[in-house]
Amino acid sequence: MSESATTAKSVSPAFGRNNPYSAQLRENRWLNQKGSSKDTRHISIELGSDGPTYICGDSLGVVPRNPDPLVQEFLEKLDLASDPTLRENVASTLILNRAGKKFVKAVAERATGTARDKLGAICADEKKLDEYVFDRDAVDVLHDAPGVKFDPAEIPNLLNKIAPRLYSIASSPDHRTGHVDLTVAVVQYTTHGRAKQGLASGYLARLGAGNSLPVYVQPTRHFHLPPSNRDIIMIGPGTGIAPFRAFLQHRQKHGHTGRNWLFFGDQHAATDFLYSEEFTAAHKSGHLHKLSTAFSRDQAEKIYVQHRMREEGAELWKWLQNGAYFYVCGDAKRMAKDVHAALLEITAQHGGKTPEQAEEYISVTLSKTEKRYLKDVY
Ligand code: NAP
Repeated sequence: MSESATTAKSVSPAFGRNNPYSAQLRENRWLNQKGSSKDTRHISIELGSDGPTYICGDSLGVVPRNPDPLVQEFLEKLDLASDPTLRENVASTLILNRAGKKFVKAVAERATGTARDKLGAICADEKKLDEYVFDRDAVDVLHDAPGVKFDPAEIPNLLNKIAPRLYSIASSPDHRTGHVDLTVAVVQYTTHGRAKQGLASGYLARLGAGNSLPVYVQPTRHFHLPPSNRDIIMIGPGTGIAPFRAFLQHRQKHGHTGRNWLFFGDQHAATDFLYSEEFTAAHKSGHLHKLSTAFSRDQAEKIYVQHRMREEGAELWKWLQNGAYFYVCGDAKRMAKDVHAALLEITAQHGGKTPEQAEEYISVTLSKTEKRYLKDVY
């Protein structure tokens, strides 16, 4: 593999969030086994020869739509279900699955009787309003104010606009030309007696082979593969696995000589080991040099990827000393912070550094100077 290929920029100037490409979904497959509490999908999309191009580390922007039954329920409650232009506008541009504060306030103003009093009191108290909108969608709000009416022209100004959702790409462009894969956690929950789905993950989960969907490539600024002879350490629990599947495909295809070490974690080994056949086979063949898994709920105490990092601290430190690149993908709020803390501890313990020196090494030398600590967290 030539170095230029890893550092090449993806070029797809023709398509963007305001001008997405109409791609075709080819596969929508469950990655969790029966009995799992999670619903993670492998979504494979055909970009064809005229679609956007990408490189490993890029993200795919998906422009979602609301589910038809939700749009119908919303319009029926407002007595506006017979307006096809409004229907299409609501379905494709307005957020229904989360109630916005502006919408609640507008509904409160139009409501009558006890509904007006109840919603009015909520709107007058910011904390109560935060709590009210936290687990409600637009239909829940209308349910609390039966008979409320709006003019069709008012609707677009009352609801927040749908924005594209970015997913880390889970395939190498050279593995299957003209295709892009995603690893999508489908967000679903029931509140106030109604089942709900995440806007974009629900949209992707509903699509079947042959359906078209608007997409574009969002190039990564920093989450690139290193030169082909460098080792990589990849920390990717849950859907954080996505870019590392791409990295491994790419390095295998192009015969990169650097070693690959993957840390993966999820709830249960039997049901939630995403792409287990692929990673187990890559480990067996020697392409994936080390595979460290952390299944959090297979025992009484939680075991996370950072626990496995600590257990392998001496070896991990050796890899870093040998010039390995350290990648983290997934949850920003807790996981990436805990992984960072584990990295600091490993550096102090195995690098013989004080906490201050470890901080300097990780946050300055590794991250800023050598640019070997790369994150794709959300
Ligand atoms: P995930 O929820 O990130 O879980 C993957 C694994 O990480 C599980 O074994 C989980 O264990 C474990 N984990 C939990 N806390 C951790 C920590 N502090 N450090 C290390 N590992 C930790 O997996 P996912 O499938 O990618 O996401 C599932 C859902 O979470 C989706 O609905 C997704 O949208 C949402 N999510 C939200 C955010 C965000 O809002 N910032 C980020 C990532 C995912 P336990 O569950 O057993 O504790």
